[in-house]
Amino acid sequence: MLAAVAALTWAAAFTASALAPGTAPAQVSAPDAAAPDTSTAPALPELTVLDARASPQRAFFAGRPVAITFGLRAPAPLALQVDVVRDATNRPVRRFVLPAAAPGVAQRVEWDGLTGGDKVAPSGAYRIRIRAADGRVRRGGRFVLRSHIYPVRGRHVDRGPAGAFGVGRNGGRTHQGFDVNAACGTTLVAARGGRVVRSDHDPVLYGHVVIIRGERTTRDYWYSHLQRRSPLRVGDRVRTGARIGAVGATGNARTVGCHLHFEIRSRGVPIDPAPELRAWDAWDG
Ligand SMILES: [Zn+2]
Repeated sequence: MLAAVAALTWAAAFTASALAPGTAPAQVSAPDAAAPDTSTAPALPELTVLDARASPQRAFFAGRPVAITFGLRAPAPLALQVDVVRDATNRPVRRFVLPAAAPGVAQRVEWDGLTGGDKVAPSGAYRIRIRAADGRVRRGGRFVLRSHIYPVRGRHVDRGPAGAFGVGRNGGRTHQGFDVNAACGTTLVAARGGRVVRSDHDPVLYGHVVIIRGERTTRDYWYSHLQRRSPLRVGDRVRTGARIGAVGATGNARTVGCHLHFEIRSRGVPIDPAPELRAWDAWDG
């Protein structure tokens, strides 16, 4: 609602500007037309953007929001449009309107990774464009947004054929996930933030297990054989990249050694997580 009101204010400021080309928008006191000397008074407000940053520069959807910050030097408060622009398309995915950004005041906008159409913005490089009523664009910060983070935060290697998705297991089962070997105790984080839907101990198969329903997905992310019970409880909300436990060898990993058994279930159906894991791992590059 606030955004809609702000957008109207923005539109009004720009309409006023468009109707009287060359004059300053309503928020800025324009030079008196009767003044004897206007040669030193700019027709449009001077605006300099200072210390523009986007943080973190490696952001993850459902992780810490991207903080877009800057200062400005200008003769008076003015309307600004702050666009989050996707490099791949050179188009804004999200627009914020600051109806009266004041000079000398730190400006801060937080972006949650959603587009103006309430969709998850695609992974990739983004930059900030700051535009004032004069139409001139100033550059803001740059950052990269990713949909997921690789969950094993330390040295790791794929377990190999025995850990691949779909291979046979005793008792007629098939392997419904993908195994990654890592030293016991290696930190595990949520590949995708969301809501914890299970956190308990299964002595037969999974050992200590955490399942997170991925934010803005129809997927569950399974992390199993954790070293000890996760501090997370059902219903907890977790951000992408938040610690959920450590690599262990509980459940039926006792005889295999420390590794993460990772599953993705899409609408309840296990899918092969290997291609995505490889992509997320490469993003860490
Ligand atoms: Zn496994």
